[in-house]
Amino acid sequence: MSDYDTFDDRFGSLIIGSAALERLWTGGRWVEGPVYVPAAKAVLWSDIPEDRLMRYDETSGAVSVFEHPCGYHNGHTLDAFGRVVACEHGGRRISRLGFNGRWETVVDRFDGKRLNSPNDVVVKSDGSLWFSDPSYGIDSDYEGHAADSEIGACNVYRHDPLTGETTAVVIGIDRPNGLAFSPDERILYVSDTSLSDTPAIHAFSVADDGRTLGKDRVFAIAEAGFFDGFRLDRAGNLWTSGGDGVRVYASDGTLLGRINIPETVSNLCFGGPKRNRLYITATSSLYAVFVRAVPADRP
Ligand code: MG
Repeated sequence: MSDYDTFDDRFGSLIIGSAALERLWTGGRWVEGPVYVPAAKAVLWSDIPEDRLMRYDETSGAVSVFEHPCGYHNGHTLDAFGRVVACEHGGRRISRLGFNGRWETVVDRFDGKRLNSPNDVVVKSDGSLWFSDPSYGIDSDYEGHAADSEIGACNVYRHDPLTGETTAVVIGIDRPNGLAFSPDERILYVSDTSLSDTPAIHAFSVADDGRTLGKDRVFAIAEAGFFDGFRLDRAGNLWTSGGDGVRVYASDGTLLGRINIPETVSNLCFGGPKRNRLYITATSSLYAVFVRAVPADRP
């Protein structure tokens, strides 16, 4: 099987046909939430059921356990200061790795109630954190600690670290999961990994105030499994996990092509000194492939 399937000629300008997919590490149980940390020349990612945070050293190729137990981390990103921001199922919070090396709480409540289990997070250019809060980390003890939802809904929130204010920006998506902004931050993409609704990526227009969302449209419907996590490249193409590999969609919703991955993909991020290496978490393994595309400046 080829590493690539092309459905639209534009795909050829985004990949390097001669660049082969590499499996960098395997041995996880369900891996997720990769983030490239430029200052460390490393990739961090979660192995959720094993309650550990893994680290790939880009210089030596060594893989080690960065932290265990870690509070059942899921998604990660970087803030404007280069600090790692984490979604924790166990702590039911968004946390941040401080300059002192300790994890500190950014937000763990909405309206006085504990969050469910934050899944994925992105930082907007104004410093606000936008995150999804489905129930996967409290549904059972497998990926966190079984508990009832205090909020009683799975929402997407915006948290302003300057004011401490947290607002629900997406209500009514069954299981909001991955999320990312378009390069101009005029669109917020949110995936729904619902079993009862159609799994899809929704596109919300961002209002002129930059803090609230307007119209919702279905951007892409999952044809194989789910869309979990995704990232945008500088041209606005969306690179997403799918049941059959990494799928790349143009901003108009056209499926351009697919990178075939031998395991079910959960998430991905751009990394490397030139940001042209795609790191992919898939079931038990970390994969990488060099591409022609580069990401939007936001991590
Ligand atoms: Mg996810």
